[in-house]
Amino acid sequence: MELDLPLRKIIHVDMDAFYASVEQHDNPELKGKPIAVGGGSKRGVVSAASYEARKFGVRSAMAGYIAKRNCPDLIFVRPRFDRYKEVSQQIREIFFEYTDLVEPLSLDEAYLDVTENKKGNPSATLIAKDIRQKIFDKTGLTASAGVSINKFIAKVASDYNKPNGQKTVNPEEVISFLEELDIRKFYGVGKVTAEKMYKLGVFTGKDLKEKSLEFLDQHFGKSGRYYYHVVRGVHTSGVKPHRIPKSVGAERTFSENLSSEVFMLEKLDHIATELERRLVKSKIAGKTITLKIKYSDFTLQTRSKTLPYFVSKKELILETAKELLYQSELENSVRLLGISLANLNTEKKKEESPKELVVVQLKFDF
Ligand SMILES: [Mg+2]
Repeated sequence: MELDLPLRKIIHVDMDAFYASVEQHDNPELKGKPIAVGGGSKRGVVSAASYEARKFGVRSAMAGYIAKRNCPDLIFVRPRFDRYKEVSQQIREIFFEYTDLVEPLSLDEAYLDVTENKKGNPSATLIAKDIRQKIFDKTGLTASAGVSINKFIAKVASDYNKPNGQKTVNPEEVISFLEELDIRKFYGVGKVTAEKMYKLGVFTGKDLKEKSLEFLDQHFGKSGRYYYHVVRGVHTSGVKPHRIPKSVGAERTFSENLSSEVFMLEKLDHIATELERRLVKSKIAGKTITLKIKYSDFTLQTRSKTLPYFVSKKELILETAKELLYQSELENSVRLLGISLANLNTEKKKEESPKELVVVQLKFDF
């Protein structure tokens, strides 16, 4: 039988507790200790926690005082973004030794398409091993990896043997892997969506698969279509090395500089409302959400996140913008906040029409 979909070999590489690991590596006295990057100031929020801190329930986006309550020995470290960017660049150089098809998701995560690669290595699994070893040799840091036929499954798989591990989902394992997958592990399903899924009786990929496209569309809108396809192993979105930076945004300058994140959340709500209005007006949606922060000393910071599907609804945009706000400690009081959406659906040529994935007796090195 023939294969309906062109099979790709995709690796998702994800650094382990990246910011915290960089700090522990650079300051050996922090090694083996519970540390939190960010969160040290009065109203601060943790942006990354070491594995030692996670054992005590310290998580990113957690208020610093709660983190300290959970873990009294917690050491707060100020973030050093320039250093993280530098390490991130070193890691990307390693990726480019294998392929030019590298799509970074953030400083510490990227998708690689190694279907055809510069080393002529047919095994994506061995390439992932190689890359993780090279990252360790060059930076002293560990990474985890997921390997499969598309970005969605690779991303989910990279979480399985974390930290310092990897998992391959071979083509013939894809269907059962997805059916057994806990709905909370689906990339793109956050807490709110998971709750909604539960109420609809969807707990695993298998449950999800039993729902019709119409049903999912009715309950989840555009994301419903995405869920419908990914659970069938269909995720045709390729690894995109060059993003077109066209975007839509909204921003606000404040009459007084803000230093409390509580007030900022309120402002973000207004900005997201305005952005949604603009998106609805021009009938567009996007995948990459960028939070722009201008400090009182006029320095500018941007933080981005790319979702696996298009969004235009305020709730989803706001949820991501908040996450980005909490990602790291603010360096100063803030005079302007902005949210923009890029990777727009207007840039997309006609979507490939997804077909059911058929994997039969496949001779495919993974
Ligand atoms: Mg990571």
